[in-house]
Amino acid sequence: MGGSEVDSFEREFAGYHGAHHALAVTNGTHALELALQVLGAGPGTEVIVPAFTFISSSQAAQRIGAVAVPVDVDPETYNIDATATAEAITPRTRVIMPVHMAGLMADMDALDKLASDAGVRILQDAAHAHGARWRGKRVGELGSIAAFSFQNGKLMTAGEGGAVLFLDPDDYEKAFLHHSCGRPRTDRNYHHQVAGTNMRMNEFSAAVLRAQLGRLDGQIELREQRWRLLSQLLAQIPGVRPQGGDARADRNPHYMAMFRLPGWSEERRNLLVDRLVDAGIPAFAGFRAIYRTAAFWETGAPEESVDAVAKRCPNADAISQDCVWLHHRTLLASEQALTDTAAIVADQVAAG
Ligand SMILES: *Cc1c(COP(=O)(O)O)cnc(C)c1O
Repeated sequence: MGGSEVDSFEREFAGYHGAHHALAVTNGTHALELALQVLGAGPGTEVIVPAFTFISSSQAAQRIGAVAVPVDVDPETYNIDATATAEAITPRTRVIMPVHMAGLMADMDALDKLASDAGVRILQDAAHAHGARWRGKRVGELGSIAAFSFQNGKLMTAGEGGAVLFLDPDDYEKAFLHHSCGRPRTDRNYHHQVAGTNMRMNEFSAAVLRAQLGRLDGQIELREQRWRLLSQLLAQIPGVRPQGGDARADRNPHYMAMFRLPGWSEERRNLLVDRLVDAGIPAFAGFRAIYRTAAFWETGAPEESVDAVAKRCPNADAISQDCVWLHHRTLLASEQALTDTAAIVADQVAAG
């Protein structure tokens, strides 16, 4: 029915990540919605999400009628906290959604155990994690569905786009029908089998993404080297804490170079971001904790006050006010550019 670029890209992207199947879709938010629907999330169910993430993680769950339950993150890795996740599981929980923050894999061992004990599924929000690995395993080999984004800022991009990886052929077939108006691949007589929508990727984007997949490994290698240098330089500045690692997360594609300035006010943090931007460095303030947005409370929020959620999520609150991130292209720049970047941070820290 379609062309050949999307089919080829799906095969190559699945193969690259060790999954059996991939579906290329319109964007990363739709990838999450599609995956959540296949996993049975919807009205009457809950989806556990990290409180510190881009809003799509929770919005996808809310959009399909589920309740998004934010839990706290680790103060060093900024990834979902396994203990907080365990405490948030209820009989209504259907999915746990770790976000591999900036490319650093969440603790998949602990989360897998929690999920299998509770009989719930894991959906990896892998919007930052193209090519990431956990104890040598690729994202698609970790026994759960994973959703990716190819939005303009991401590690692979066609302006917009997304993908979902599957190990289970039944999950894949369900998702295929849903993303293509309920229509089986071979149908020629309009036998639409289930209610669905059109989330299909276009041929042009797939062609661009196929070319980018070929460059990804080289770029990851360079970013890993550069992050080792930048994180060392930042760690030498008093009061600056680069995002921590986890030896088990043994391949990190580094979607963002993140660091915290613990104890800083949001205003002081924002001044540093401005200063970096003025020097031509693509720097940004960290995500706002999802429960600190108006959008979060419009639909599908837990029956808790914002203060009660904030009390459960002190790390997410602190990180959103004291965290800075640099665009991944800074980690493809020269070593000198990184030395210059760290010097600006040091200067601003010294200025008090
Ligand atoms: C970018 C992003 C998404 C959504 O992707 P889009 O393609 O922009 O819809 C989802 N989750 C996280 C963590 C993201 O950073």
